[in-house]
Amino acid sequence: MIPVMRPFLGEEEALAAAEAVRSGWVAQGPRVREFEESFAASVGALHGVAVSSCTTGLHLAVHVLGIGPGDEVVVPSLSFIATANSVRYVGATPVFADIEAETGNLTAATVEPVLTDRTRAVMVVHQAGVPADVDAIKALCEPRGIAVIEDAACASGSTYKGKPVGAGALLAAWSFHPRKLLTTGEGGMVTTDDADWAVRLKRLREHGMSVSAADRHHGGSAVIEQYLETAFNYRMTDIQAAVGLVQLSRMDAVIARRRELAARYHELLDGIGVSAVTDPEYGTTNYQSFWIRLPEDGPDQLQVLSGLAERGVSARRGIMASHLEPAYDGHPSAPLPVTEVFTARTVILPLFHELTESEQDKVVSALADTLHTS
Ligand SMILES: *Cc1c(COP(=O)(O)O)cnc(C)c1O
Repeated sequence: MIPVMRPFLGEEEALAAAEAVRSGWVAQGPRVREFEESFAASVGALHGVAVSSCTTGLHLAVHVLGIGPGDEVVVPSLSFIATANSVRYVGATPVFADIEAETGNLTAATVEPVLTDRTRAVMVVHQAGVPADVDAIKALCEPRGIAVIEDAACASGSTYKGKPVGAGALLAAWSFHPRKLLTTGEGGMVTTDDADWAVRLKRLREHGMSVSAADRHHGGSAVIEQYLETAFNYRMTDIQAAVGLVQLSRMDAVIARRRELAARYHELLDGIGVSAVTDPEYGTTNYQSFWIRLPEDGPDQLQVLSGLAERGVSARRGIMASHLEPAYDGHPSAPLPVTEVFTARTVILPLFHELTESEQDKVVSALADTLHTS
């Protein structure tokens, strides 16, 4: 069976984790700090605050903006459900906006109709690694005092207008789950250029403490910490950060290989009349997920997934639509026609660093068979 995804982890990551264990300091410490600095620099941000996941990072981003009950935050329904949930965590209301079919992302045109005088922020997702046109959404929102937060869970290594996604972001949240390109097992990061927010985010992830546990330990002199506000334990461990540092050093090679495999997919899929995710005109995707559009009059998603499975290929349904899940039953929403077609008529094919060309050929011939026989 060809898996849809396999994390790319090697001996170096294992050694780095072992070194952190042998150092005797396994909780948040010097390796987390180094990882924060290196990762933030790699995405063109001034500050990085490591957290336990992208989900907790999104929660902190909404929290640091002071958003709460009575406020609205615009999100795409077409996203992993954590995007919308992070708005509910602070008691605010997620408002679903539709997407454009080409990228799977929000645009200024899909956001504009759902803005109200209670909109405090828009959470833009770079879905599956495809950069969203953030400048156009900022141009719509900033004059109205609406913050633009970026859910960059999938977007390490993607670019927007010649710069890394995340450069110039007010607040961007990243994921290091094994389903993403750079993994620490679980883990996340919030990046920002705002020094005051970075300080506050570091406090919020660590119980609201005035001095971090690592600084107290390594500081040498006696310090009694204070708890300045009600906060959370959203810390990353030094074991995870050690793995993350190695993964970060491999990113250029990982992106290059994925883009090479994606180009090859495009060629092969063209031959069977199937179109797939590609770079938008203003940027480049890291091909975190390689989705295809199912031909209009062909078999449905479940038939295609079963047909592929029977032929030894593990694929996945397209990106989920949060508003169709039981957790959002009864949640008011404008119609989302593009989202509903996108989620029902796309399928994610296997793409990972060690995928071979012959495996890729097998995926495409399994797809061709499935589309013509189901
Ligand atoms: C994976 C993902 C998340 C959640 O990331 P975790 O690190 O698992 O919390 C959030 N948003 C999007 C768009 C994702 O793809």
